[in-house]
Amino acid sequence: MLNIALFGPPGSGKGTQSKKLIEKYNLAYISTGDMLRAEIAEDSELGKRVKSVMDAGELVSDELIVQILEKKIKNLTDAEGILFDGFPRNLVQAYILKGLLCKLNTELTAMISLEVPEEELMERMLKRAELEGRSDDNPETIKNRFRQYESKTRPVSGFYREMNRCYPVDGMGRVEDIFQRVSDVIDSL
Ligand code: ADP
Repeated sequence: MLNIALFGPPGSGKGTQSKKLIEKYNLAYISTGDMLRAEIAEDSELGKRVKSVMDAGELVSDELIVQILEKKIKNLTDAEGILFDGFPRNLVQAYILKGLLCKLNTELTAMISLEVPEEELMERMLKRAELEGRSDDNPETIKNRFRQYESKTRPVSGFYREMNRCYPVDGMGRVEDIFQRVSDVIDSL
């Protein structure tokens, strides 16, 4: 199996690249952010619990993340691997992912990290706020999402670096060019 975790700060282009990658490599797509937004849209019990947390730009509890992941993992189709977008987001989740893949008799092939300078990130996020109207894309929440990223999520890249599984990719430039760089990394695995 080809199991990839796409990593990077808010606004680094994970969602955009994910859509292209799952098609090219026939991967199942697991985006914890999309799954949480779907729960909110359905107004489920879980959705009610996570909305205020997401709107504040905080991380949802690991326990709830495990709950939604388990739902999804059960109905994996005959894809050739899994692409994780927005997960793992802290070190506990990195261990959770390890266990989850172990249950499926497999492991993480690579963590691909999209590298984008912070000034560019803020600009992209504010533009997206205008276009998509996501309730967590306002300046106050965005600032907190960056803070959460720096304190809790960034250390995850060190975890994979130590295992020689972390591949940084320049996330600046045209979407197509970034996609080519990511594809080159995957093809070299
Ligand atoms: P972005 O990467 O642009 O911040 P996401 O859609 O991945 O967007 O995540 C949006 C929000 O969903 C996060 O700020 C957080 O509140 C919640 N979230 C998503 N994935 C996780 C996760 N793995 N653990 C905890 N919270 C998460």
